[in-house]
Amino acid sequence: RVFNFAPGPATLPEEVLKQAADEMLNWNGLGMGVMEVSHRGKPFMACYEETLSDLRELMNIPDSYAVLFLQGGAIGENAAIPMNLMPLAKNGPKADFVVTGIWGEKSVKEAAKYGQAHVAASSANTGFTSIPDQKNWQLSDDAAYVHICSNETVGGVEFQQVPKVSKPLVADVSSNILSRVFDINDFGVLFGGAQKNIGPAGLSIVIVRKDLLGHAMPITPMVWDWAKQAESDSMLNTPPTYSIYLAGLVFKWLKRQGGVAAMEKQNIAKSNLLYSTIDSSGLFASKVDESCRSRMNVTFYLKDEKLNEAFVEGAAKQGLMNIKGHKSVGGMRASIYNAMPMAGVQALVEYMKEFERGC
Ligand code: PLP
Repeated sequence: RVFNFAPGPATLPEEVLKQAADEMLNWNGLGMGVMEVSHRGKPFMACYEETLSDLRELMNIPDSYAVLFLQGGAIGENAAIPMNLMPLAKNGPKADFVVTGIWGEKSVKEAAKYGQAHVAASSANTGFTSIPDQKNWQLSDDAAYVHICSNETVGGVEFQQVPKVSKPLVADVSSNILSRVFDINDFGVLFGGAQKNIGPAGLSIVIVRKDLLGHAMPITPMVWDWAKQAESDSMLNTPPTYSIYLAGLVFKWLKRQGGVAAMEKQNIAKSNLLYSTIDSSGLFASKVDESCRSRMNVTFYLKDEKLNEAFVEGAAKQGLMNIKGHKSVGGMRASIYNAMPMAGVQALVEYMKEFERGC
């Protein structure tokens, strides 16, 4: 296998993929694959319950929070969140947003269809390379919640501390869930797509404080009404059974690695290695403020942009795949989620040094 630095769908643990392959035709001794069994039957329900309880254990999720396994991705939740929460605002539907990248911008745009989406702070003026100082956030008294993206996957900007706000904090954790220890009590809602640190695309996870349930706008589609889904084991419609099964295998793998705290340690070591290589080089540079550099999506650029293509091509020849940056920001991006081993980062760093020596 190659080292795959893709931002999502992203690399998954080899052990997990091997197990899934072994069980593809005959899962649980049933003589059929997990994709072929009823979501309501005993074997799948047991798999679902165990997956849920492993996630609760890994993230230390209190009973006062519901965990929903939904579909529609984080983009779908960008609509579901205002529909479920904006009615809690006291003077008409409204929420505050702190925008630190393109995913935050998209959340604002979608929420504005359902109420007032007030941008309380934005780092657009820095080209999304920083996080606005909380002292300067213009939070509203009458907003239902404050929305952030805890890790901006495209720009490579990550909150290193969860901000404390008086309203429920809603965080898009698509690209850093399970990569660092969160205190769930700091949040009203955490949500994200699975296709980075959890498993295949098709599953979205919503962790929501239970007192925030039951306020959805009447227009809310049933499948995105969190209270209704919470009452129905997230099974108002057929859930993405294969994605849930695979997420379950990843959660078991995470537990074998020592859990989220152990992963966080690894992620610090991996990202430090990459950033220190960038910082000590004459060819590579990072644009992101040191205080908010992402541990998951390391963005960097070549000071001589004419070398971009050769750098990407040379990397691919060595089995270092998908390191080209997002088209909106250019440069390079190495996504180093939980399943990227240290060996992958070491190989990338060696290649970067060798490339620079050859320039
Ligand atoms: N939010 C963040 C931070 C992302 O990185 C992504 C995508 O990859 C999304 C939202 C969109 O997620 P989805 O494609 O699951 O809707």
